[in-house]
Amino acid sequence: MSDVRAVLNRVYTADMPDLRDIEYLLSLEDADQIDELYKFADNVRREQVGDGVLLRGIVEFSNYCRNTCAYCGLNKYNKQIRRYRMAHDEIMACLDKIVSCNTKTVVLQSGEEDELDAAWLQDLLFKIKDKHDIAVTLSLGERSDQEFEMWRNAGADRYLLKIETSDKQLYEKLHPEMSFDRRVECLRKLGSMGYQLGSGCMVGLKGQTTASLARDVQFFVREKIAMIGIGPFIPHSQTECANHACGDVELVCKMTAVTRIATKNTHMPATTALGSLGNGDMRLKALACGANVLMPNFTPVEYKKLYEIYPGKRCVNEPTGACSGCMEKMVKSIGRYVDWARGDTLKSYN
Ligand code: SF4
Repeated sequence: MSDVRAVLNRVYTADMPDLRDIEYLLSLEDADQIDELYKFADNVRREQVGDGVLLRGIVEFSNYCRNTCAYCGLNKYNKQIRRYRMAHDEIMACLDKIVSCNTKTVVLQSGEEDELDAAWLQDLLFKIKDKHDIAVTLSLGERSDQEFEMWRNAGADRYLLKIETSDKQLYEKLHPEMSFDRRVECLRKLGSMGYQLGSGCMVGLKGQTTASLARDVQFFVREKIAMIGIGPFIPHSQTECANHACGDVELVCKMTAVTRIATKNTHMPATTALGSLGNGDMRLKALACGANVLMPNFTPVEYKKLYEIYPGKRCVNEPTGACSGCMEKMVKSIGRYVDWARGDTLKSYN
C-alpha cells in the first residue's frame, strides 16, 4: 500500500483524524498522489451521499452589514456600494421562481445588519412556510439567542454561519471587534435549538498556514457540521486585504477532498467563489473531488451586482434563476444527476 493510501485510510476511519495526516494530504505536490487523493474523496462521496447533486437556491436579500471583516467588500467602511434590502414581495417572487425550478431549499442570506427586524423576518418565514414546502436556511451572521429561537419556531430549518478560519488569533485579526469564541458559541447554540448547521472556511487568507487549514478540518468533524462550504480568498479593492493574492484553487480542491474524507456524510457545495477563479469552471473539479451541492443564485440581477463580497463573481448578469438550468446541464455533463430532494442533514446528533 502506498504511503498516501495508508494516510487516506487512516483519515477516513478515524473518529478524529490526526493533524499531521491532514497536513500531509494538504501538502501533496506530486500529480499522481493528488489524483489518488481526489479519487479516494470521490469514492467516499459516492459511498456516503451518492451520485445526486443537490441544488440550494440562494437569495441575497440585503447587503447592509455592521461588521468590518478585512476581506469582504460588504464591510461597513465601504462607502462605494449602494446598500439595499429587498421587500417581502420581492423575496417571495424569488421563492416562487425557486419552487418553479423544482428546488426544495432556499438560503436567505444578508450581511450582519443591525437594522434587521427580527419580527420582519419571522413574518417572512411564516409566509414562506405557508405557501411552499421548502427547507429554509438562514445566513445572517451572529444574532441573539432569542432571535435564533424565534426564527426556528417560525420554521427556519438550517443556519449557515461560516467560521472562515478556526485559528482564533487569525480570526480575530481578520474580524476586528468580533470574537472567535462567540462565533463558536452561536454555532453550538444553533445546534442545540435543532437547526441543521452549515459552516465553512476560506483558503488563502493572509497569515493562514497549512496547519491552520488542517485544524479547520478537525473543527468541522468536532462540531458535526452538516454542510461545509470551502472557497478561495479573492481580494476586493475596498478592503484591507486588497493587495493579497487569490487563494490557490488546487489547495481549495485538496481541502474539499480531505474534508469530504474526514467528515464523510456532509453536504458540500462546489462554491461560486471557486467557480469564479481559474480556467473553465472549477466547480466541476470540486464536484469530482468530494462536493455534492450547487447553489444557483435567485437574487434579482439589480441586487446581485451589489452583493459584492468579492469581485468577479460569476454569472452576476444572468437573469434570475438562469443558473439553475445551467447547473442541471453541468451535472449531467459529468455523469451525475440532480437530486431534487431537500437534502436534509445526514448527521446524527445523539
Ligand atoms: S463577511 Fe459577512 S459579516 Fe463580514 S463584512 Fe462581509 S457581509 Fe459583513
